[in-house]
Amino acid sequence: MASHIVGYPRMGPKRELKFALESFWDGKSSAEDLQKVASGLRASIWKQMKDAGIKYIPSNTFSNYDQVLDTTAMLGAVPPRYGWTGGEIGFDTYFSMARGNASVPAMEMTKWFDTNYHFIVPELGPDMKFTYASHKAVNEYKEAKALGVDTIPVLISPVSYLALSKPAKGVDKSFCLLSLLPKVIAVYKEVVADLKAAGASWIQFDEPILVLDLDSQKLQAISAAYAELESALSGLNVLVETYFADVPAEAYQTLTALNCVTAFGFDLVRGTKTLELIKGGFPSGKYLFAGVVDGRNIWANNLAASLDTLNSLESIVGKDKLVVSTSCSLLHTAVDLVNETKLDNEIKSWLAFAAQKIVEVNALAKALCGQKDEAFFSSNASAQASRKSSPRVTNEAVQKAAAALKGSDHRRATNVTARLDAQQKKLNLPMLPTTTIGSFPQTVELRRVRREYKATKISEEEYVNSIKEEIRKVIELQEKLDIDVLVHGEPERNDMVEYFGEQLSGFAFTVNGWVQSYGSRCVKPPIIYGDVSRPKPMTVFWSSTAQSMTKRPMKGMLTGPVTILNWSFVRNDQPRSETTYQIALAIKDEVEDLEKAGITVIQIDEAALREGLPLRKSEQANYLDWAVHGFRITNVGVQDTTQIHTHMCYSNFNDIIHSIIDMDADVITIENSRSDEKLLSVFREGVKYGAGIGPGVYDIHSPRIPPTEEIADRINKMLAVLERNILWVNPDCGLKTRKYDEVNPALTNMVAATKLIRDKL
Ligand code: GLN
Ligand code: ZN
Repeated sequence: MASHIVGYPRMGPKRELKFALESFWDGKSSAEDLQKVASGLRASIWKQMKDAGIKYIPSNTFSNYDQVLDTTAMLGAVPPRYGWTGGEIGFDTYFSMARGNASVPAMEMTKWFDTNYHFIVPELGPDMKFTYASHKAVNEYKEAKALGVDTIPVLISPVSYLALSKPAKGVDKSFCLLSLLPKVIAVYKEVVADLKAAGASWIQFDEPILVLDLDSQKLQAISAAYAELESALSGLNVLVETYFADVPAEAYQTLTALNCVTAFGFDLVRGTKTLELIKGGFPSGKYLFAGVVDGRNIWANNLAASLDTLNSLESIVGKDKLVVSTSCSLLHTAVDLVNETKLDNEIKSWLAFAAQKIVEVNALAKALCGQKDEAFFSSNASAQASRKSSPRVTNEAVQKAAAALKGSDHRRATNVTARLDAQQKKLNLPMLPTTTIGSFPQTVELRRVRREYKATKISEEEYVNSIKEEIRKVIELQEKLDIDVLVHGEPERNDMVEYFGEQLSGFAFTVNGWVQSYGSRCVKPPIIYGDVSRPKPMTVFWSSTAQSMTKRPMKGMLTGPVTILNWSFVRNDQPRSETTYQIALAIKDEVEDLEKAGITVIQIDEAALREGLPLRKSEQANYLDWAVHGFRITNVGVQDTTQIHTHMCYSNFNDIIHSIIDMDADVITIENSRSDEKLLSVFREGVKYGAGIGPGVYDIHSPRIPPTEEIADRINKMLAVLERNILWVNPDCGLKTRKYDEVNPALTNMVAATKLIRDKL
């Protein structure tokens, strides 16, 4: 009976690590205090797995910030600007790399594959000296051992580490990062020797890049790396773990041919073709770690179905070589269902968070060796059945309406140029119209009002009056600043997805269902469990109230279907496209109600559209197709004179620009200022963009006030590649996290810069 967990969330069931980190960073507690919380969390995780009966328990999947940064520390690959002079890397250097310090900015962070987790990107060059500078892996192994738990230490593999790195500033962009492999492996050898000496009998290398479209150079690097490590690894059982998708056929050949590897881990949830690959040939005598329990979602496993899969695998690899596992690290799911006090029992019975998934893995392993816990399996089967048949899940009218959408592509009848003309006649905007993205600063006072209203401590009337007051202030400020297209500031919203989810049917909310996004930052995605519909208008009251306070156009402000989907835990009982179409229809009703209420500019944010892009090229076109279609559905029913905006928080558009054009919005605002105007290069290369476009003119993530000349300079750069009559001027994103004393001068400068340029046009 063998069971394994790929990795486990670090934050703790109630985000204990977050609070310990932030208090340490604020200087309110000591390094020892932080260490104590961290080791307490590790101990409880190991104990939990041991008590559940897990055989292969991971260590070193805990992190004080990020596992890639931990690897950077292990290799001593500290960029010179942090002034590290050698020795064991401590919190000072470590957190400076993660978060920057008073004199040096942080290292870049980017998304971990197609998850919402962000890792710290290693910055490497030919001069980097690698030394064994963090003994975290062996220390954690020993720590667990002292607690009576023999663990599998987990390391990111040397090739995946290098493949996720970038050339440091000043290093030629074409520098081959893989050329550093021998130097990096030299350190890994020391680490492996250390682990062996401490008593480890297994080691896990995470090799996530194996699920990407890899060129043969990278595949060869993988073979070379393990060949080079072979002697160091002798005497150890080596597990190579892959996740997030299936491994392409060629990579599967490379992987399964690795001599010194004893065990292969696969994601059998997202890896839809893995089963066929394994059936097509699996090296005899090696272990298969079968990831049947989903680490990316919160649904209870369909144990009967998993058992079928496992049985068919057992006939290929043999009874004693099959290990039940999770599809990936449980880092990407919520921590423990036990702390969910507000979900009803029916919905709870459909769910499993990390703590419950451990139990599922073990139950499956026991069932495989003839010790099936009948009661556990039968209660799982009835939960599966209740989820299938529950009237809360199914809404036939919604299903019919969504099904009817397929086959047609839903486009507004008039082309965008003609629409923009019609809109301009109505709106009469100046050249280079100015606007903002939606939210204004969320003050402590505002948060208090929302919280007290939710807790029914203040009446609805008091709440509405306070929010109205806030809207009035935001409008007065924008009029004073002389902004052309106004926003109401979103004071009634806590979060752009949660706000809509709470008003739509088919969504549930957790109290503690947090998932780490980066560092101490966590998100609490809503759970979409049923067919989505809109019982009543969601934003019409606030938008029309705001419009009644000004003569200038007031943007209606909605979150688009793809963003709602990508930032939620979604159903696994129907395709994502289906869920998107359902949300799109609900948003469509809202768009049309806003139009009826006299709102003539409506922004539908698709901040996370790019985020859902599948990892493999072969699957991207299909995703983009339904995602873009889903967006178009929301506004296909409006008049030509209604101006549809969309907004995206990502500047990496160059590869999906044609899909963005295909969204057919009238105006798009895009984050731009942090990426050295990478975005503009698309247009420089001749892509024609006929709709309105507002590449952000300043970074809202920083408290820095952008000077007028700098903004003017940015606008001029844009004018060099974009027609003047389609250009808008706006910040990168919403202003929610900024303070008024930053927003005021920044927007003042933005308007001043616009006027300077207008005068010269
Ligand atoms: N309208 C939202 C805001 O301004 C958009 C946020 C986002 O793009 N992440 O806050
Ligand atoms: Zn944004």
